[in-house]
Amino acid sequence: MIPLSVPNLKGNELKYVTEAIEAEWISTGGSFIDKFETDIANYLKVSKAVACQSGTAGLHLALHLAGVGNGNEVIVPTLTFIAAVNPTKYVGAEPIFMDCDHTLNLDVNKLEEFCQTECKLTSHGLVNKRTDKVIKALVIVHVFGNMANMEKIMEIAAKFNLTVIEDATEALGTYCKSGKFKGKYAGTIGDFGVYSFNGNKIITSGGGGMLIAKDNPLAEKAKYLSTQAKDDQLYYIHNEIGYNYRMTNLQAAIGVAQLEQLENFITIKKTNYHYYLEKLSDIRGLTLLEFNKETRPNYWFYSLSINKKLFGLDRVQVLSKLNEHGIQTRPIWGLIHEQKPYLQNQTYKIENAPMLISEILNIPCSSNLELEEVNSVIDLLTKMK
Ligand SMILES: *Cc1c(COP(=O)(O)O)cnc(C)c1O
Repeated sequence: MIPLSVPNLKGNELKYVTEAIEAEWISTGGSFIDKFETDIANYLKVSKAVACQSGTAGLHLALHLAGVGNGNEVIVPTLTFIAAVNPTKYVGAEPIFMDCDHTLNLDVNKLEEFCQTECKLTSHGLVNKRTDKVIKALVIVHVFGNMANMEKIMEIAAKFNLTVIEDATEALGTYCKSGKFKGKYAGTIGDFGVYSFNGNKIITSGGGGMLIAKDNPLAEKAKYLSTQAKDDQLYYIHNEIGYNYRMTNLQAAIGVAQLEQLENFITIKKTNYHYYLEKLSDIRGLTLLEFNKETRPNYWFYSLSINKKLFGLDRVQVLSKLNEHGIQTRPIWGLIHEQKPYLQNQTYKIENAPMLISEILNIPCSSNLELEEVNSVIDLLTKMK
């Protein structure tokens, strides 16, 4: 069995978890939480990071701190994991779904066109002409570790008064190599950035997330809200409604050990990606999607596009053949605007996303993938034709 994406725990994970247990600090306080926050902030070259229970919790806090609430709207991609969208509903707002381009990231031209033609800029902000509601924010997902076009997005956001929340849950380690944001990591360009350490992400803490904010007081506020909004530690005075969203010291211990290996994981994933790329280029009808050339991606997930006419088999047939041989392969997510809770929500010219997802599969990409495993995936695809 070759899994799609599983944790790689051969570093200091056990050592640090043991230290946390020996110190009897296993809950939502302890030195590993502080260390993980500092290490992530240093890695990303930002001043503060706030550890959360999950990426989803981080996104919820970001929307709340962006002032998104009841009656507001938020622009989101339809091609993503549903956790990028659900927090919009947690704060009482409604999502508006956008299409993606051939990179699978948000189509910035359609985004601009939507803001220009379907909305009007007022003293309250950007108002959706169809609903008369204020669109407060924009959730950008860096899909599979590729980087969205942040230069254009920040330009549109400034023009139309939108808060930018970067869902960088799949893109820890991805950064710009050139342009206006040269040297900037995915998640550190918008107003808020959120990372995830779920089991299938590039590094994991079992479960967990990290939130960063351009505005330092908002990062402080995120920490306060994530720890039950306690204004007085002794007398338990709470001036706001908080959440129990703090990461535990046990999770952070694993996270610290994982972060030590992040660059190594990226190197391995890059090597495997290029190996797949080279070998699969010989097979007519199969294309491995490329990463944005202006960025150093983290190579989190590999997307294989199958042209049925040229390859002879479609995505479903390839998926079941690979799975039959113990190679775990996954179709891209179901589009969010087609999911039951979102059927009534507004969409804007969604044309590329349905087409792309009907052709793409994610193939094994774990950082502990062995060369012979990569070869057996390639062999099977070669013989399948
Ligand atoms: C994984 C993921 C999340 C959620 O992160 P959790 O830590 O699992 O809550 C959100 N958005 C996207 C795009 C993801 O891939």
